[in-house]
Amino acid sequence: MFHEIHEECGVFGVYGHPEAANLAYLGLYALQHRGQEGAGICSSDGRHLHLDKAMGLVADIFSEKRLKKLPGHIAIGHNRYSTAGSSVLKNVQPITANFALGPLAIAHNGNIVNAAELREELEKEGAIFQSTSDSEVIVHLIAHAKGNDFYERVTQAVKQISGAFSLLILREKELIAVRDAYGVRPLSLGRVDGAYAIASETCAFDLIGAAYIRDIEPGELLIIDENGIRSMRPLVAPRQASCIFEFIYFSRPDSYIFGGQNVNHIRKEFGKQLARESFVDADLVIPVPDSGVPAAIGFSEESKIPFDFGLIRNHYIGRTFIEPKQSIRHFGVKIKLNPVRKLLQGKRVIVVDDSIVRGTTSKKIVKMLREGGGAKEVHMRISSPPTIGPCFYGIDTPTRQELIASTHMVEEIKKYITADSLAYFSLEGLKNIVPDSHNYCTACFDNNYPMSFPGEHLEQMELFLK
Ligand code: AMP
Repeated sequence: MFHEIHEECGVFGVYGHPEAANLAYLGLYALQHRGQEGAGICSSDGRHLHLDKAMGLVADIFSEKRLKKLPGHIAIGHNRYSTAGSSVLKNVQPITANFALGPLAIAHNGNIVNAAELREELEKEGAIFQSTSDSEVIVHLIAHAKGNDFYERVTQAVKQISGAFSLLILREKELIAVRDAYGVRPLSLGRVDGAYAIASETCAFDLIGAAYIRDIEPGELLIIDENGIRSMRPLVAPRQASCIFEFIYFSRPDSYIFGGQNVNHIRKEFGKQLARESFVDADLVIPVPDSGVPAAIGFSEESKIPFDFGLIRNHYIGRTFIEPKQSIRHFGVKIKLNPVRKLLQGKRVIVVDDSIVRGTTSKKIVKMLREGGGAKEVHMRISSPPTIGPCFYGIDTPTRQELIASTHMVEEIKKYITADSLAYFSLEGLKNIVPDSHNYCTACFDNNYPMSFPGEHLEQMELFLK
């Protein structure tokens, strides 16, 4: 299959600042957690676009010298998430192209569900693709679209897309932001020194001293140019379906997403409710760092069981999840985490993590807490419901068969990870905490997918229906 599904990314844009590329650099730096495979910035000085992109981390790629080669007052940037088998520069964004209405660059966060079909059609019409990224489809759709002006073309193009897109488009004299009508991925608008900034998450605003104004609304097309800001609403969906997993795992705790909800606050509330649902008598609550920290603090506060850092994380290693082979992943947990024996020895320990995907991490952690840490009992608490459905909209989850909770009961998973007890957060509890929870996609927990499925994902759906 040509395109690598399940990519989560970060996007950042700025309009009207003399140091646009420098701000984009900082914005991407703050959004590094959303993608570590590669990054790029494209700037415009009003006449030409200037692009620089490479594999690796933002701070390793861009030097002062390289940023100087990105002049202008407009810029967009992109962090790409690493997925197995797709680590090639040509898939790193922004993607640039020249077409009838001039040059453009795009940065896309999300995943296009019908990318394969669209690509096939476009290729039949003569389009030549440079990459295997689903995002390139958007560029070709815009080039092929008909319409009186650029915005009509963009609208026509994105109307053909099924899936998630928080999209930034850079042209010589303008910055355009489009968010899919379901509002799957976050996208926020901010203001700094009279300039506008747009970011996947508000933590990027904090670093550059920008003030959060509002979200780009689901279905909104926002134009920023010398006349200021203009908004259109060309896209409609039957409902909003923002990604609940942004709260659980993906977004940074200091960010405010989906209408200004603080991620840390929500995660802590998850932990409190989890404690109410699945209290167990113990001596110590510890998080799996960093993903389990806010929920573990909430769990400790509610249960009155002391909190401490019983596992120490080495921060200089990429996320274990992105490593391709099972054998490496097993090793990965150990090089990433180490137990603090002094804290754990002889204790009944509650360990809180945000999710179980394949079960590999939890199994290693339980073993580590017992063998390396000397814990007497290990009780695993998960601040999300069982992950039973793969994500087609941009969160990097494996296939349904690999999701341990889709094929095993909680009791079986408990045995597999060798915990003394295991409890997940209830979907009901989760929905009670997230305000307006009907506006969220919870497909990974209840198989309730908001969009239809074209051919390439049918196999997955059939497995689910069996
Ligand atoms: P696993 O070992 O496959 O069960 O993975 C579970 C671990 O992966 C948990 O510690 C989660 O915090 C983490 N995790 C969950 N979702 C993702 C994701 N989309 N990308 C990277 N890590 C994830």
